[in-house]
Amino acid sequence: MNRSRFIQQAIGLGPQWQARSGWFEQHPAELERKAWQLAQQQASQSAATAAEIPPAITAVTEADAQLAAPLLVTSPAAMASTPELISVAAPVTAIAEQPAAAPLPLVELSWEQLEQAVANCQNCQLCQTRSQTVFGRGNPQARWMLIGEAPGEQEDRQGQPFVGKAGQLLDNMLAAAGLDRENDVYIANVLKCRPPGNRNPAPAEILACSNYLQQQIRHVQPTLILALGRFAVQTLLQTEQSIGKLRGQLHHYQGIPLIATYHPAYLLRNLPDKAKAWQDMVLAKQHFNRLSKAASLHTTQPQP
Ligand code: SF4
Repeated sequence: MNRSRFIQQAIGLGPQWQARSGWFEQHPAELERKAWQLAQQQASQSAATAAEIPPAITAVTEADAQLAAPLLVTSPAAMASTPELISVAAPVTAIAEQPAAAPLPLVELSWEQLEQAVANCQNCQLCQTRSQTVFGRGNPQARWMLIGEAPGEQEDRQGQPFVGKAGQLLDNMLAAAGLDRENDVYIANVLKCRPPGNRNPAPAEILACSNYLQQQIRHVQPTLILALGRFAVQTLLQTEQSIGKLRGQLHHYQGIPLIATYHPAYLLRNLPDKAKAWQDMVLAKQHFNRLSKAASLHTTQPQP
């Protein structure tokens, strides 16, 4: 017995406690801590794997950016040489103000009436330059609703939103997330007519067209909205904050969960941001699964 233990026993403190070999490692609290630590490591590994961009998304790239070029101007010099185009980085307030058109009276229309009203609409100046209106595409009963900005040249020609290379990229992202573009989502734009030269939508045009989108959302009643691009995000969330600040978190539009992300046309010109867009898609999927699970639990609860 060493001197310290002898003195402790001599003053009545009894034998000194010593952990048995392996006791601490086998304690239930320590085992639980290790299990939690392992679970955290596995979760972060699987999150990193999930956030890797699927090949189908990286496949739509530089050649496509050429096609998307008329949509986007990124440098002041380029803007100066093409004054009809406005940088996507410019805030909404930078658009020259036009006299605000009165929004449509919010009359509740059936889906068919709504389609007809949009097809005949002359509520803003865009009716003079469009080839046709672009109402939407997909399943009006879908649980996902995707909302973009406005028809581009191809959309104006074909009467469908998100066609061409940007549409192909969006379809690839949807497919990678396990979503069928025709059955699992409904896709619409803030504006139903193409702004000439693919310029940015003007506030007066957004205001004039806003009731159509509101009514579309009411009819679809989506579980989750994925807002694509600055105009859709800022219009729905009534903010001037950038997508960089708004993405990565859950928002709500009139009580409907909303995830903000980049527009596919922007992604064709800014390839590094595809990874962020894919992270947004993974985040949206996680929230959608959680909301669907909560809804199914709610509906299977026994009624009193
Ligand atoms: S953009 Fe909207 S409000 Fe303007 S004419 Fe087209 S449908 Fe009507």
